Amino acid sequence: MFDRWLNVFESFGWRDAIEVLLLTLAVYGALRLLGRTRSAGLVRGLSLLVVIVFLVAQTIVAALDLTVVGKVLDYLFTTGVLALVIIFQPELRRGLLVLGRYPLLRAFAPARSHPIADTLADAATLLSRQGIGALIVIEREESLDALVETGTRLDAELSVPLLHSVFFKNNPLHDGAVIVQRSRLLAAGCQLPLGAPSELTPHQHGMRHRAAQGVSEETDALVLVVSEETGRISIVFEGKLEAVDRERVSRRMAECLAARPTVPPARKSLVMAALPKRDPTYPRDDK
Ligand code: ATP
Ligand code: MG
Repeated sequence: MFDRWLNVFESFGWRDAIEVLLLTLAVYGALRLLGRTRSAGLVRGLSLLVVIVFLVAQTIVAALDLTVVGKVLDYLFTTGVLALVIIFQPELRRGLLVLGRYPLLRAFAPARSHPIADTLADAATLLSRQGIGALIVIEREESLDALVETGTRLDAELSVPLLHSVFFKNNPLHDGAVIVQRSRLLAAGCQLPLGAPSELTPHQHGMRHRAAQGVSEETDALVLVVSEETGRISIVFEGKLEAVDRERVSRRMAECLAARPTVPPARKSLVMAALPKRDPTYPRDDK
């Protein structure tokens, strides 16, 4: 029996080493993935136990040449893995969602949701139904600090009621644009650089749509526009304005937010730099 044990170790070649390394990496990757979920400890512990028991049992089976026991173990392992998948299905799903954060994998699985996409889409739908105009600029890679300075800093948690009240007619901050950074509403009443009207269709020639176009040409920001006149919702992304149906806003926003910026962050706009700083006197004298 001792000879058999020795055989197992003596016949261990570089191929086996690669196999062990690949298996270790696979187990490590799976455990890390599961580690990002809520019941991480339990999942990790059980999975590790199953893998260790299986490996020890397989070594003993190989050393003693117990073919029948080996077959039974194979069946048990397959069933065990299946049982784990079924028991921890919610954790696995959450773990797989984490994969979406990796750019390479994201290319194969286009984004369907984004933490702020739903809030923005719900707010846009509500505003559009009520005929309230809105202009929302979402910061991506490039800083929008220069724009924040032209408005009133709020730095509040983004929510549908907050967006609704900011753009509500006669609210002192409804005029101008809102700047969103991650899930924070950074500032309201901000002034944006105007885009060239030639790029837009006639119904988009108003100042709000030109401002949306302008900021999208000057920065990598994503812009959401609700037309006060028509209730139409538009998204301006990488300098292109597209009208989007209410049902598609969330999905389209999530796609844009998940896309890698194609504009180099180093590029700094002359128009942005030249933007006037907000006059602190209130009410504004340009109104
Ligand atoms: P709508 O379809 O809602 O009427 P529009 O594109 O026709 O939009 P206007 O009717 O000119 O545009 O909308 C004017 C509003 O757009 C202003 O009240 C202001 O809130 C906003 N706006 C105009 N210019 C700017 C700017 N440079 N930066 C930010 N907001 C602006
Ligand atoms: Mg108008």
